[in-house]
Amino acid sequence: MCHVGNMTHSLILLKMIKQLNHKIFHEIKAVADEMQLETYVIGGFVRDLFLHRNSKDIDIVTLGSGIELAGKVSERLKSKPQVHVFKNFGTAMLKYKDLEIEFVGARKESYQQDSRKPQVENGTLEDDQNRRDFTINALAIGLNSSNFGQLTDPFNGLEDLKNKILRTPLDPDITFSDDPLRIMRAIRFSTQLGFEIESGTLHAIAKNKDRIKIVSGERIVEELNKIMLSDKPSIGFKLLEETGLLAIIFPELQNMKGIERVKGIAHKDNFYHTLEVLDRITPHTQNLWLRWSALLHDIAKPPTKKFVEGQGWTFHSHNFLGAKMIPEIFKRLKLPLNEKMKYVQKMVQLHMRPIVLSEDVVTDSAVRRLLFEAGNEIDDLMTLCEADITSKNPEKVKRYMKNFLVVREKLKEIEEKDAIRNFEPPVKGELIMEIFGLQPCREVGIIKDAIKDAILDGVIRNDFDEAFALMMQKATELGLTKKNS
Ligand code: ATP
Repeated sequence: MCHVGNMTHSLILLKMIKQLNHKIFHEIKAVADEMQLETYVIGGFVRDLFLHRNSKDIDIVTLGSGIELAGKVSERLKSKPQVHVFKNFGTAMLKYKDLEIEFVGARKESYQQDSRKPQVENGTLEDDQNRRDFTINALAIGLNSSNFGQLTDPFNGLEDLKNKILRTPLDPDITFSDDPLRIMRAIRFSTQLGFEIESGTLHAIAKNKDRIKIVSGERIVEELNKIMLSDKPSIGFKLLEETGLLAIIFPELQNMKGIERVKGIAHKDNFYHTLEVLDRITPHTQNLWLRWSALLHDIAKPPTKKFVEGQGWTFHSHNFLGAKMIPEIFKRLKLPLNEKMKYVQKMVQLHMRPIVLSEDVVTDSAVRRLLFEAGNEIDDLMTLCEADITSKNPEKVKRYMKNFLVVREKLKEIEEKDAIRNFEPPVKGELIMEIFGLQPCREVGIIKDAIKDAILDGVIRNDFDEAFALMMQKATELGLTKKNS
């Protein structure tokens, strides 16, 4: 049963058994022995043991009732953790310290054409390993005293782990057709772990790409987010593109691929540029939404693309159209339609501002306006803009980076001086209406804008008295008089 032959593997195994010294495995052993249930730890936890990844999710499979086993394990533990039973799935889960432990009976699965939810019946350990998605996810370690710490690796998963290969245990064509979520999982694991997808497996992904339509949007985006949060998300998006999935699940991104040439002038490939920006931003942020902003910053380049005689390729207002496209994309992808989306819209809309600013003389007034519009997101916006510089011309990159430094310094200076970030003009509309006895009207707007502009342009300071004086002056110009005069 145990396919671990050579020295290296024995050493790894020793290490692994040490990991199994965690108290919980000994408790499970005692209960499983007592109940005479053959029991294993299986799946992601075992894979991650070998990869030295810290996993808090433990899957226990037993040749019998997982729910009963979980109940007995809980009784044995001092803390008597609550057992959450999922009757429909025949599983039970309990939390112990920082671990989440799921118990399930070994099962055999069979699939119908129109659903990724299988029909399930009781099975052997072998059946249970056969239903797993990848060889590296099918590893099981015995937890009874007769086989404690012994690895069962029927598909040479350990070898695939060593060679960094993703491969399905059974025919990949059937595996992916049965449950096409596995397609997304393959691409996600490849991205997260830096593993290569074995060629037959990759081929079957492309062949079964249309099956993705039976997977819910929520499950797809869960995998997309895991790809986004990896160290090098481009791996996943390139795989999605190469296998034809991107065109199905994310046509706007697919549309960015390609280069057009008119009169010998070509534009850059915006798909690969976007992926470069995304990879460049990852070391600087764990913020998923800033990463989404990087992925979407140029999303409206295809629909705004135009070749203009004498100018070359233009993408006028792609930032504005991009921000407008986002609600529809978020809705379709089942991403949240709340302040996270608004944040991404803001990033996309403003993503060119710092660079335009840095191309010119960096005036106080332009910096104040940028600070006013970006508010608390100013640092994220600067991070995005810096990642956006993917030019291969080192002179150009140096110049931009130097200018950005100037912008950053100016931002700091102005912020300290004027407190512009998130500022609210010191004279508000209600006060203007109160003083001049007005209902909401055009004049109130004119005065408010004049005060805001004067502060942003540095004509007056961000100060109540100065704003009040300006209000009085503007009101006179508009022919307004104070209510009681
Ligand atoms: P992660 O925690 O990073 O998502 P994981 O492998 O632990 O990785 P889970 O979704 O917790 O992922 O699944 C646990 C195990 O269940 C997997 O290792 C795999 O053996 C099996 N599994 C999960 N989803 C599928 C699926 N769609 N098809 C086949 N086996 C699956």
